[in-house]
Amino acid sequence: MAEEKTKTQLLRESLMMEENKQKKLTAEVVAEADKFCEGYKTFLDKSPVEREAVGYSLELAKSRGFVEFDPEATYAPGDRVYYVNRGKAIALAVIGKNGVKNGARMAIAHIDSPRIDLKPNPLYESNNLALFKTHYYGGLKKYQWTAIPLTLHGRIVRLDGSTVDVIWGDEADESCFCVTDLLPHLAQEQATKPMSKAFTGEDLNVLAGSLPLDGADDEKELVKLNVMRILNEKYGITENDFLSAELCLVPSFKSKDIGFDRSMIGGYGHDDKVCAYPALMAALDTDIPENTCITYLTDKEEIGSEGNTGMQSDFLRYFIYDLAAQDGIEGYRAMSKSTCLSADVNAAFDPTYASAFEANNSCFINGGVVISKYTGHGGKYDTSDASAEYMGKVRALLENNGIIWQIGELGRVDLGGGGTIAKYVANMNVDVIDLGVPVLSMHAPFEIVSKTDVYMAYRAFYEYFKA
Ligand code: MN
Ligand code: MN
Repeated sequence: MAEEKTKTQLLRESLMMEENKQKKLTAEVVAEADKFCEGYKTFLDKSPVEREAVGYSLELAKSRGFVEFDPEATYAPGDRVYYVNRGKAIALAVIGKNGVKNGARMAIAHIDSPRIDLKPNPLYESNNLALFKTHYYGGLKKYQWTAIPLTLHGRIVRLDGSTVDVIWGDEADESCFCVTDLLPHLAQEQATKPMSKAFTGEDLNVLAGSLPLDGADDEKELVKLNVMRILNEKYGITENDFLSAELCLVPSFKSKDIGFDRSMIGGYGHDDKVCAYPALMAALDTDIPENTCITYLTDKEEIGSEGNTGMQSDFLRYFIYDLAAQDGIEGYRAMSKSTCLSADVNAAFDPTYASAFEANNSCFINGGVVISKYTGHGGKYDTSDASAEYMGKVRALLENNGIIWQIGELGRVDLGGGGTIAKYVANMNVDVIDLGVPVLSMHAPFEIVSKTDVYMAYRAFYEYFKA
């Protein structure tokens, strides 16, 4: 017979916050999460850069009945449309019974991740080695990107306007690239420097070749010339074509289960594909919602959401204006009634770096999807701080649908900080809050998430669209 609870125990259970979210993880939830994450791992491996994330999302959306949005067409409840912004961002909408008359329900995630971009004039030869000059993209700890295999992804536009897509280094039998590092034997001076000085942006030079052109008549830059010969044979480009190219170096390794229990996934670019995929699948799985639901996968978050493919662009606003015109209402009215889940990751509590976190307000691996009322930094600068009312609505939605969730601030106060797209969405007069997946080693070439957290993110977006 079970022991009877004491009065104090009963009072504690009724008044105090539950301490351990992980105890809610049943074998059934774990199995569902495992299944969902097989699709996620494929998405992650196919989407290292935003163009590829758009391409694969589009493939999945088309297979589920989404058609290209036509501002002139008329749509009925349950119709499914996609709208691509310059190949680097994509909106997917399922038209609701009320259209956008009561606003849209939006989930917005970003599909760019920290990486190393080639400079516009990248290729040079030094001491018989061919190297690329680079400019890193987003916030990264530079030492983490040395001495690991890198793959080249991107697009080159030739002078005649024709384009060529580059993927070099993904296949097991293909060569890849690498940033070199100094051997420990000779690093005594380097080891005394602070990290910001020990590895500089101009040190992130990438090895691209070492053999001179065979049978040359002179000795000038023959290794570089040999690399250009190979690139010309494969892609039909000359050195000048680098001037109109976007070429990115990303880690070569594929996603992999982590731990004896296979409960976690290691991979490149969880931030923020780990929110993009659940938001995408929620839209794909939505049938006929009350209000039009929109998943928007945006670019450039890692560099401040700038540019015409970032969240500060008017692309999404105009899309909603187009939808509003169909419903015969002003765009700004539809926008003002819309609500949003800003789908982005948060830093999971790491016991090895416990001093960076305040445990009562941190998110934990397997604690479920994390709600961040605000992000920003010291003194709540640079953030949209969601209202208690909107937080209350989202909290009730999660609780009422049995979704495992937790709250999380990004680390200790005054230690640093970070932003998301939420503040740009809020500026459009939209209620918005951050909801996403806890990540260990965020912005490292190999980041870690838990499968059950990924699955809970999917359930949260799905129920949000349905509500
Ligand atoms: Mn992010
Ligand atoms: Mn990030």
